[in-house]
Amino acid sequence: MLALVLHEIGEFRVEEREDPTPAADEVLIRVSVTGICGSDIHGYTGENGRRFPGQIMGHESVGHVAALGAEAEGLGLHLDQVVTFNPVVIPTTDADTFAGREQHSPNKTVIGVAPHIPAAFAEYVVVPARNVVPLPATMPIEYGALVEPLAVAVHAVRRVLRRTDERALVIGGGPIGQSAVLALRMEGVDTIFVSEVDPARRALCARLGATVLNPTAGPLVEALVADGGLVDVTIDAVGITLTVADALNATKFGGNVCLVGMGSPKLDLEAFRLSTEERSLVGSFTYSAQDFTDAAAYIASGAPEIAELISREVTPHDADAAFAALSRGDGTAGKVLVRFSS
Ligand SMILES: [Zn+2]
Repeated sequence: MLALVLHEIGEFRVEEREDPTPAADEVLIRVSVTGICGSDIHGYTGENGRRFPGQIMGHESVGHVAALGAEAEGLGLHLDQVVTFNPVVIPTTDADTFAGREQHSPNKTVIGVAPHIPAAFAEYVVVPARNVVPLPATMPIEYGALVEPLAVAVHAVRRVLRRTDERALVIGGGPIGQSAVLALRMEGVDTIFVSEVDPARRALCARLGATVLNPTAGPLVEALVADGGLVDVTIDAVGITLTVADALNATKFGGNVCLVGMGSPKLDLEAFRLSTEERSLVGSFTYSAQDFTDAAAYIASGAPEIAELISREVTPHDADAAFAALSRGDGTAGKVLVRFSS
């Protein structure tokens, strides 16, 4: 099979690798497309130290079942079925202890992040059958690569949202912020603002139905006050000192802020915004198995706005150039997908 191998930091090469074979409890997926995640880009540049030379990364993927291990056959899966997979894998012995919060298992591995597991930037990938999530064949197949980033956003929203009539702000209109707009809609929220500096990303979020704000045009708080008041919940999909300050300022006393963006490993924040004004600041990382299957159900609906999140597709041979361009900030508003098969 063809595989996109991180030859060294800052360089992918397309290499020929042996086709993987599934173990008894695994499924072989023929990959259609795999999305490029921000974490992949920061791994490629070496910024986050979470990807390693020799690695085949890729965790936002969709394809067709190509082979089933002996034990996987009883799970209702069949050959050629369209499927995605939840890349957060926990040992079966942890399933009861961490039911509903699988991401908390200290024994979890994440396919596409763990350097020793060949992942989905390849023509084939092997995954545990219990992590496979079927999708309808009627849906444009590339939508399936959006399940994973949507699951990230669904979990972030569920960490902070208390009622559907709350006003919500998303800071950062990139792929996770865009998914957060969909996730807020999924959870029944009508009033959604997005703060984003890039005009193309603002335009995309506006097409998703959000009210878009340019934080460089003036104080966010003034813009919100002019449009009905501060918000009850804020999702910070950037995660730097500046955006956390914006998030705290934009959120009402007693409101909730979710930190899902990992833009900076350290933050300065105004402590009294939390203490005296009783805001909660909570973190969010990946998702539970339920968040993932709920995100898959939304994507399976094939709602027309889902197409807005995909900016373009590239071939494996063009992927290195695409990563280089994305790492320079080439103005791509949405998701870039690597196409391996139809
Ligand atoms: Zn990701």
